[in-house]
Amino acid sequence: MDFNDTVEEAEFRAEARAFLEQHLEPKGAKPLRQRVSGEEFMARAKDWQAKKAAARFAQITWPREMGGRGGTSMQNVIWGQEESKFDAPTGPFTIGLGMCIPTVIAFGSDEHKKRYVEKALTGEEIWCQLFSEPAAGSDVAGLKTRAVKDGDDWVINGQKVWTSGAHYSDYGILLVRTDPKAPKHKGLTMFIVDMKQQGVEARPIHQASGGREFNEVYFTDVRIPDSDRLGEVGQGWKVAIVTLMNERLAVGGSPGPDWSEIMDYAKQAGTISDSAFRDKLADWYVAAQGYKLTKLRTQTALSKGQTPGPENSIGKIITANQLQDICNSAIEMQDHYGLMTDADTMPADALFQQSFMWAPGLRIAGGTDEILKNIIAERVLGLPQDVRVDKTVPFDELKQG
Ligand SMILES: Cc1cc2nc3c(=O)[nH]c(=O)nc-3n(C[C@H](O)[C@H](O)[C@H](O)COP(=O)(O)OP(=O)(O)OC[C@H]3O[C@@H](n4cnc5c(N)ncnc54)[C@H](O)[C@@H]3O)c2cc1C
Repeated sequence: MDFNDTVEEAEFRAEARAFLEQHLEPKGAKPLRQRVSGEEFMARAKDWQAKKAAARFAQITWPREMGGRGGTSMQNVIWGQEESKFDAPTGPFTIGLGMCIPTVIAFGSDEHKKRYVEKALTGEEIWCQLFSEPAAGSDVAGLKTRAVKDGDDWVINGQKVWTSGAHYSDYGILLVRTDPKAPKHKGLTMFIVDMKQQGVEARPIHQASGGREFNEVYFTDVRIPDSDRLGEVGQGWKVAIVTLMNERLAVGGSPGPDWSEIMDYAKQAGTISDSAFRDKLADWYVAAQGYKLTKLRTQTALSKGQTPGPENSIGKIITANQLQDICNSAIEMQDHYGLMTDADTMPADALFQQSFMWAPGLRIAGGTDEILKNIIAERVLGLPQDVRVDKTVPFDELKQG
């Protein structure tokens, strides 16, 4: 494992850092309560995305003719490492650029690429991913939203859920059932959908944290032209796998407080000498170091031109669980103040309380702990496959409910 940048990598890192320093404040420079939200945040996010695109930092590995930098996977890792040290408002574009647009590039026509890629890259248009339904999450191939062919159009009826950013998105990639007589993985088709058209209704879901980041989305007689299909009819699962592979790369580590932040807080709160706390701190530190070395192994593979494998699933299991545990301990440390979430009056700007409410979601989004453990068991450790009894049965003959 090589921990050091090559000369070229060090040059790229310096260039990236100079650009970031010119446009953003370092993370933590502002107390949490002074960070803007809502429309102000969206305007700042779009502005940052446009600046990144103009300087060709928006998608490092994409070809230059698509507005990318034509850079290496290693440069992409370096950019991610450097940008994460700054207060960069990237959230609204993660799903579009990380999952939807790579799917459009892989399966869309030249017209699709010309129409959608640049506007997504510059932040002008935002995308969402419409896969999960009330009875289809981990088992997304069990979805029921229907598309029926009518002339040159498909007519869509059904409901999606947990769709991040649907309420502010312009377009989405939509996985629907086109053939209920085929086995569940074989009767699906993927489309591009205009989220602002008649019949699409996004209803934000109110979260425990007070946020409204994801939605229920209802489709009532929504018409999509056949020309906005991605991939062949009935091949939607193949298309979705490309999206989900990109999702595992895009939904990585946790953005919340880590062992060093709770250590700093414990010093202020006077609990750093508590031996039970110190034991936990040591465990968090050890797990974080293990994860750091695992990431460096991935980085070394990328640097040698290799493709990292399913071992990437390890990262989210470790960081999301650790985030929940760290926030829980900090809240306990704050005693009765731990119950309150008001950033203006609470210790550490209520960072631990707010992250505590987000952490369980992180353990679910992009694959639950159990699903990721299945992937690690089957594809990293080579253990026998999970039992799958419904793979060959026509979807409309499966027991529902
Ligand atoms: C913050 C957040 C953002 C999201 N954003 C989006 C989005 O933008 N677009 C979108 O389409 N979806 C989105 N989702 C939905 C997400 O993909 C699903 O919630 C996730 O796949 C789990 O599905 P489910 O909620 O239906 O739970 P289920 O699949 O019903 O799981 C329930 C429980 O059963 C366990 N389980 C299920 N199957 C197995 C198995 N085979 N072996 C062992 N245990 C199992 C699960 O681990 C879990 O504990 C988001 C979710 C969250 C939390």
